[in-house]
Amino acid sequence: MNPPRDHYSQGSQTIFMRDQRQASQVVLRDFPYPYRAMLAICSDLDETPNRHVYWEIMRFLNTADTTPMGQGVGLEVGNTIYFDMPSNQFAYWNTDDAGREMARALIRSGHIDCLHSYGDLATTRQHAGRALDELARHDCKLQVWIDHGTAVTNFDPDIMHGHGDEIGHQAYHADLTTEYGIKYVWRGRVTSVVGQDVPARLEGIWDRRHPIASGRTWLKEFAKQLLARTGNAKYAMHGPNETFRSTFLRDGRSVHEFMRCSPHWGGVSSCEEGRAIGEVLTAEILDRLVERGGTCFLYTHLGKIDDVKIPFNSGAVEGFRRLAEMFHNGRILVTTTRRLLGYRRATRQITWVGIEDDDHIRIAIDTRSESPRSDRLSEADLAGLTFYVSDPEITSMTIDGRDVPHLKHNEPDHTGQASVSLDWPTLEFPKS
Ligand SMILES: [Zn+2]
Repeated sequence: MNPPRDHYSQGSQTIFMRDQRQASQVVLRDFPYPYRAMLAICSDLDETPNRHVYWEIMRFLNTADTTPMGQGVGLEVGNTIYFDMPSNQFAYWNTDDAGREMARALIRSGHIDCLHSYGDLATTRQHAGRALDELARHDCKLQVWIDHGTAVTNFDPDIMHGHGDEIGHQAYHADLTTEYGIKYVWRGRVTSVVGQDVPARLEGIWDRRHPIASGRTWLKEFAKQLLARTGNAKYAMHGPNETFRSTFLRDGRSVHEFMRCSPHWGGVSSCEEGRAIGEVLTAEILDRLVERGGTCFLYTHLGKIDDVKIPFNSGAVEGFRRLAEMFHNGRILVTTTRRLLGYRRATRQITWVGIEDDDHIRIAIDTRSESPRSDRLSEADLAGLTFYVSDPEITSMTIDGRDVPHLKHNEPDHTGQASVSLDWPTLEFPKS
């Protein structure tokens, strides 16, 4: 971390350091232009009946093609995968060759971005090794881990009953899994607060239409906040209400742990299913996310549905269309869990200076100062970074000393300020 410094003058130039963002005329915007909030649908694949349902869900969310639910909504939504599960649930080893090929294509395109443990029936290090060998053999890379149910390969000891990072346990695999490339983990932390990376607010949780149930949800969240402030380790993440923190697994390996949000008035385990997501993607909740300028990893299980032929009911379809409208009109940027984690890390970890004189503004970004080499930000993590500047036409940018060739010039946004930004490329959904 650089020591805080004031902005200072050097000849005719005024140099503003990032620690003086408020005073500076070059300011890092919270989200890629023109968005005012970011959201990842972070879905566990539990109970997805088969590969057809999995595929139709992904096609509806990620394309504008015709699907059993009508025209797709053209968002960017990721999904999870696991390996050893009972035969009535979609999983990598359960499905057929076409299902495995589909999963690999979606991993390569970035649409399957999270490992959801190794599955309920993976009880040993050998199960983990077999899955990782398969992924490596097909050049399939995943960087996000999400604990599942009470799978023994989970990392969290308390809520998720895991032993995956306990050296000496037969399910210990943290060394193999982190060496394979996992560096982001979810270990059971869920909040009812809409919007992270902004101060926690309990307003909006209580719903006068459901006073008792929503009152209970409010009290639970209040208790988590209180416990966080009194040093409770289990709820430590709820206090600062940040999307992620850097921490360690029990075997000493460093990871980034993230928190998910389940904002339904009935509590964090209410309506976290595909069949009920229409109750969560409401105008009220989405508007609040925008008003707060928050980031959200939305906790859900999209494969928990009632009709295998038409996976999403009309309420769910309406909810996704509502979200799609807010994405397409430039309010909420919807992306995958992995991309959102990378973006939030980039905004927190880069160092930068804005150097401004009469006819030129130069922004120099440095990604190298804080992390060990294996955990450096990638170029993709910097996608979408946006800086407010007084005049985009005279602004240039460097990243680690290299010129950025195609900086985007943006019109003034809702705050009236113009900006420049790095491109935010969309993921390309596989053909079949
Ligand atoms: Zn699960």
